[in-house]
Amino acid sequence: MKHSDAPASMSRRELLTLIGSVAGGAVSYRAMAGMGLTTPSNYQGPIKLEGNPKGATVLILGAGIAGMVAAYELRNAGYKVQILEYNNRAGGRNWTLRGGDSYTELGGFTQKCEFDKGLYINPGPWRIPHHHQGLLDYCRRLGVALEPYVQVNYNAMVHSSRAFGGQPRRFREVQSDYQGHIAEMLAKVTQQNKLDEHVTKEDQEMLLESLKDWGALDKNYAYAPGRESSDRRGFERPPAGGLSAVPIHSKNIIPFDQLLQSRLWAAIGAGQNYEMQTMLFQPVGGMGRIGDAFKREVGDLIHYNAKVTQIKQETKKVTVTYVDTVKGGAPQTMTADWCLCTIPLSILSQIDVDVGPKMQAAINAVPYAASTKVGLQFKRRFWEQDEHIYGGITYTDLPIRVIAYPNTGYHEAGKGVLLGGYMFGPNAFEFTSLPPAERVRKAVEYGAQIHPQYKTEFDNGIAVSWHRVPWTLGCLGVWTDQARAEHYENLCQIDGRVLLAGEHASYIPGWQEGAVLSSIDAITRLHKRVTA
Ligand SMILES: Cc1cc2nc3c(=O)[nH]c(=O)nc-3n(C[C@H](O)[C@H](O)[C@H](O)COP(=O)(O)OP(=O)(O)OC[C@H]3O[C@@H](n4cnc5c(N)ncnc54)[C@H](O)[C@@H]3O)c2cc1C
Repeated sequence: MKHSDAPASMSRRELLTLIGSVAGGAVSYRAMAGMGLTTPSNYQGPIKLEGNPKGATVLILGAGIAGMVAAYELRNAGYKVQILEYNNRAGGRNWTLRGGDSYTELGGFTQKCEFDKGLYINPGPWRIPHHHQGLLDYCRRLGVALEPYVQVNYNAMVHSSRAFGGQPRRFREVQSDYQGHIAEMLAKVTQQNKLDEHVTKEDQEMLLESLKDWGALDKNYAYAPGRESSDRRGFERPPAGGLSAVPIHSKNIIPFDQLLQSRLWAAIGAGQNYEMQTMLFQPVGGMGRIGDAFKREVGDLIHYNAKVTQIKQETKKVTVTYVDTVKGGAPQTMTADWCLCTIPLSILSQIDVDVGPKMQAAINAVPYAASTKVGLQFKRRFWEQDEHIYGGITYTDLPIRVIAYPNTGYHEAGKGVLLGGYMFGPNAFEFTSLPPAERVRKAVEYGAQIHPQYKTEFDNGIAVSWHRVPWTLGCLGVWTDQARAEHYENLCQIDGRVLLAGEHASYIPGWQEGAVLSSIDAITRLHKRVTA
């Protein structure tokens, strides 16, 4: 019996409105975050460096994302800025390889990218999570057009070389069968009263309802061939029109023991990780478009082909020595009031840097992960034409680990480029030890086990192994908890007139957002010091 006109329970929207009106926006925002309705980002919006730096000069080392964010903001705030960059281009790891580009790795191998016009591969960053608000805001402000990046494609494959005779299965089938079997089992033990100790009788009703929904169970709580399971895993003959319209339900549910032993379940959590949850983005035309956009803003400040070899500081200035990697000649120097160094620690630890022992120990404390990416051009987009895979990723236990299809240019006639391998750990070391042509050959050989079309459709390829990239000597900084506890704070201090920024100086290593946020944090502290 109802004794009051008050709603039995307040809706979440009503509750938030109430909190907001009583306590103000900031509290409401925190309440929303607590309820999982918004994810707080460390990014606070465009920084405002207020106060006059009175002509202070800053020398930035490295024209990657961290370096160019700093240059852009510091110049806007009135600083005199210059950048020294090893490469003949801006962007650093933010990099897209297109037809006509060439790249020389450590050891001397030069690869010429032979992709057709408009086709590309991102050897480094390729996706931007929706909560990387710092990077996304720069994309917005600098006019970098974005398009969806597909992390999970239910129609792509999951593949084990040791299961189902090496035949790939569709992501969709594996996911729905795995959930279906688990749901059916849990429903059975619930009905057998085996969960009584853990779940009240009332909640067991709710549990059964949710299992039916989550696992696509039929009215008898079974995961069995029929409408419910076919709606998830696909039909033997899908519903159509006219006389051949009647669907035939799928009968090929993968038995649970086979599914477990195949280990294919390991792939289906792919999109659940915080960093991989939809929505993700990619810049239209390649990740390098972000570097290009920054270059439009700060390109006039960059000295290219300048390899920094030494950083010295005195009470009132910093002097940086560099050599011109193209013209050669005697080492040159440049001085400034302050130096913001974004050179990866893998390189910086090998340079003569005049900082205190704590920062030096921090610089030396972070090893870099190995990674290889292989881009393959094919004569046609057979994955779309033959298999209806539009973007997304196929996961495999083969050393290539993934095949990622282009999330753009769907249905285009002519050639297409996919990511034919993205390895970390031992697989990456193995590929790094091979000459580039051999990396490409092996990626094609492995990929052909999943897509036999590789054998006839392969055109050309390019492979970047990050430990052989002369200006990073690795993919990203790998912090252990112990190294963080011991060194992270020391790495991020202002040491005299030198401070560091870059993905390595963040808690988001391996993401451009880490580079953006570390840069903003560093220049905010620098500005405070300068204007104090
Ligand atoms: C394989 C791979 C995949 C990745 N995937 C993603 C992803 O999907 N999404 C994402 O957001 N991030 C991803 N990242 C991480 C992202 O690329 C980095 O976090 C970010 O680009 C780092 O920016 P940075 O400015 O700190 O460093 P960098 O981009 O490395 O910039 C440092 C600059 O210093 C220069 N330099 C080096 N040595 C010297 C020297 N001696 N003298 C002068 N200049 C020098 C370099 O040439 C470079 O331009 C990936 C990285 C890799 C390698």
